[in-house]
Amino acid sequence: MSHIAPLVPDNAPFSSAERAFINGWLAAYYAPGATAESPAAAAAPPAEEFPWHDPSLPMDQRMELAAGLSMPQRLMAAMAQQDCGQCGYVCHSYAAAIAAGSEKALTRCVPGGKETARKLKELLETGGAPVPATIPAAPAAATVPAPSSGAATVAAQFRIARLLNRAGSAKDTRQVVLSLYGSGLCYQSGDSVGIVPTNCPATVAAIIEALGADPNTDVDCPDGTRRALLEALSRACDIGRPSDEAVEVLASRALDPDQSQKLQALAEGYPGAEPEGADLLDLLVAFPSARPPLQELVSALAPLQPRLYSIACSPLVHGGEVHLTVAAVHWERRGRARKGVASCFLAERATPALEMPVFVQPPVHPFRPPKSDDAPMIMIGPGTGIAPFRAFLQERRENGAKGRNWLFFGDQHRATDFLYEEELTAWHKDGLLTQLDLAFSRDQPERIYVQQRMREQSVRLWSWINDGAHVYVCGAMAMGRDVETALAAIVARQGRMGVGAAKAYLAQLGREGRFVKDIY
Ligand code: NAP
Repeated sequence: MSHIAPLVPDNAPFSSAERAFINGWLAAYYAPGATAESPAAAAAPPAEEFPWHDPSLPMDQRMELAAGLSMPQRLMAAMAQQDCGQCGYVCHSYAAAIAAGSEKALTRCVPGGKETARKLKELLETGGAPVPATIPAAPAAATVPAPSSGAATVAAQFRIARLLNRAGSAKDTRQVVLSLYGSGLCYQSGDSVGIVPTNCPATVAAIIEALGADPNTDVDCPDGTRRALLEALSRACDIGRPSDEAVEVLASRALDPDQSQKLQALAEGYPGAEPEGADLLDLLVAFPSARPPLQELVSALAPLQPRLYSIACSPLVHGGEVHLTVAAVHWERRGRARKGVASCFLAERATPALEMPVFVQPPVHPFRPPKSDDAPMIMIGPGTGIAPFRAFLQERRENGAKGRNWLFFGDQHRATDFLYEEELTAWHKDGLLTQLDLAFSRDQPERIYVQQRMREQSVRLWSWINDGAHVYVCGAMAMGRDVETALAAIVARQGRMGVGAAKAYLAQLGREGRFVKDIY
């Protein structure tokens, strides 16, 4: 994980003075020896050497390690540091904004989910320790521009969602192409695109039916807009993960005391409370006596958040378009087919020429191709993690960059899940990709992952790193964690150092912008 001080994105809705202030604070925070109380000055080890925000540790352990630290630090421990950007902040600035009181929403942490939201609430209610005066009362830093209000949000046109898997695959991964022509929106390799999805119409219709409501009734939405109920539930409310507040509203309005009690247990997060992982429709079906006034329910729902996808093409090759690599998520629970909100919106419901609001989100850490065209580049990106590396490789080809390029890619089966196979094998053949290592996890009885290929190539990896290679990791969270562990073991063995020293070595590479991760 890199700890170069992040910057507030240029498109965040701040004046230049506010942006400079927040950037200054973040730079101070990230400076070696900084603490939240005294960002730049305190004599403490560099932030990345603290394990209290390590996402590989369970919540209880992180909180134990963070005991005695400042409120923003404990809030951040509750998030664990992914800096995924999905909340619209980096973890430090989200924690600082909550502690300072300028951010009231405690449910923005996507990887942390409800566990993090509840811990944030508990910390604020019971944490006691006042926020030190030296923590700037940051304005809601770097928040994702609201879908319809931010100047940086423009209308893109949907073109296609081409299936990247072959027949027989268990997966449904799409190359989504959006046209930006006429929008004025520019991007760079390494940026992500924020998509503002709509909820599944069948689920929205079932909710309205369960509520016995008129879809045309106007309601005030959590994002401050006023819309007809149908529009509100389709575009403005999170119906997939009902907030604790919404569950409390249902509990308080349930006529049946048993249902009310069960809803209260859910709202308070009691272990074993049922139905587990419920969306709003599950709750309305399971608790038919809970029918709050519409406005009360809608106001308690969390706003529907934009979703971020890494851009999978270089603007030098596909100016006027963005390509995304999207895994359409399907699962079944309690006999009902469920769908990922944004992924299935893009893969299944978007139709050619559909206009959708999008914005560009620069990376929190310097997730860009190396500045030097001669620097070697090592990219580790199984599954949808391939996305930014397709952009990086296109960019290097266009720029005639001479640096060596090495890709570790993997997915379930070679025959069906070798995403962008033609392009990648052609690049390997013509030398753009100096080395291509593949790990198809389910083509043999035991699972083989990219980190096994990395271990097999330890000597060469270490020599590339010593030659100044930039190392990038992109993809799902568990993979990111395991790849980092594998890399630390490789560095320890090849560099003849302890694992602690190897981790510090990677942290140093991170500070130099030579080891960066984009994990979701
Ligand atoms: P994936 O399902 O994580 O699988 C890619 C490959 O990585 C598979 O071969 C998988 O093997 C392997 N793998 C699983 N665990 C691993 C580990 N601990 N270490 C190393 N390799 C491991 O990849 P995906 O298709 O990219 O899906 C990732 C998830 O992230 C999806 O649910 C997607 O919707 C979500 N997501 C994507 C984006 C985006 O930008 N595209 C954004 C947010 C969320 P096995 O499956 O055989 O175990």
